[in-house]
Amino acid sequence: MECLLAYCRPGFESECASELQARALDLGGSGYIRAKPQSGFIVFTPYEVEARVLARQTPFRALTFARQVVVSSGLIKDLPVTDRAGPLVSAFGELAEGFAGLWVETADTNEAKALLGFCRKFSPHLESAMAAAGLLGSAPGHQPRAHAFFLSGTAAYPGLSDPQSGSPWFMGIPRLKSPKGAPSRATMKLEEAFHLFLAEQERQQVLRPGLRAVDLGAAPGGWTWQFVRRGLRVTAVDNGAMATELMDSGLVEHLRVDGFRFAPDQPVEWMVCDMVEQPRKVASLVARWAVNGWCKRAIFNLKLPMKRRYDEVRLCREVIAERLNSAGFAHSLALKQLYHDREEVTGYLRIG
Ligand code: SAM
Repeated sequence: MECLLAYCRPGFESECASELQARALDLGGSGYIRAKPQSGFIVFTPYEVEARVLARQTPFRALTFARQVVVSSGLIKDLPVTDRAGPLVSAFGELAEGFAGLWVETADTNEAKALLGFCRKFSPHLESAMAAAGLLGSAPGHQPRAHAFFLSGTAAYPGLSDPQSGSPWFMGIPRLKSPKGAPSRATMKLEEAFHLFLAEQERQQVLRPGLRAVDLGAAPGGWTWQFVRRGLRVTAVDNGAMATELMDSGLVEHLRVDGFRFAPDQPVEWMVCDMVEQPRKVASLVARWAVNGWCKRAIFNLKLPMKRRYDEVRLCREVIAERLNSAGFAHSLALKQLYHDREEVTGYLRIG
């Protein structure tokens, strides 16, 4: 029986599992979960709905806590050290007729990091064995990506994902360069959000000189910096100090006022919010900006509580969707735990 393997941030296994369970329920199914705390992945075996159907209906962008979702035929234990590739190639042959590529991966935990070196070394061997079996780069057309997810040097899940709906990143982790000159590390969150939520062409259209952004809770300016380097004008709202180089750009207006009370004097393209506050308070603020027509799109961080984190995310989603639906606003809303997020998730709301 096929199962789904979902990679997540260590510590968020139960949220990741709850989400897949809810998806299965929506499709009239249920499922059995295997999840070890802090392991960085979960295994979900669905009943009454096929794993492939569930995966198709569950693009990774629609999930908050999963970094990648892979359909697997199950764990292969005791891989012979003299021929690890053999059993994996057979399993891949059962999964699909051919693959567009192969990723040899492991979980994003400190223990698993030691395995990453092995994965890198083993990857070309497995690739050649798959190519020799006609499983790589042979058939034309749309093909799945192969994943070999290692738990140890002798145990791995073989699996596949659809490159169109799965994460485009190895291990579900974007490799973004840490930009030089940004005033804070928080800048990486907005950079990642732009890459995740906007296709390249859209990035160029909506992040260009001449457009305006409001950054609520802006200091010292890591998020503002992302706009400024793309030539947008920013109103930075925060009682704290902004980095001097940013102010020297001439593109930033700094207002020392309360971000929950601030209203722009003209509509802007972007509102972003990184204020550390109750998530539902931030969700209502985002909804208020949208229904007042103050921005066309928003990116915001929701700092999660210690407990019932999945429920809180659902509630925030409902707060925004209900306000916009009852005001008659078509919109799309995605909530995602980014690689650069810790105890938080990042939302992207687009109006229209
Ligand atoms: N995004 C920023 C960056 O990239 O440098 C970091 C923001 S920091 C996590 C949160 C900021 O929110 C703090 O500077 C804090 O002063 C500000 N803040 C919290 N509550 C606020 C409020 N009600 N109004 C305005 N700013 C607020």
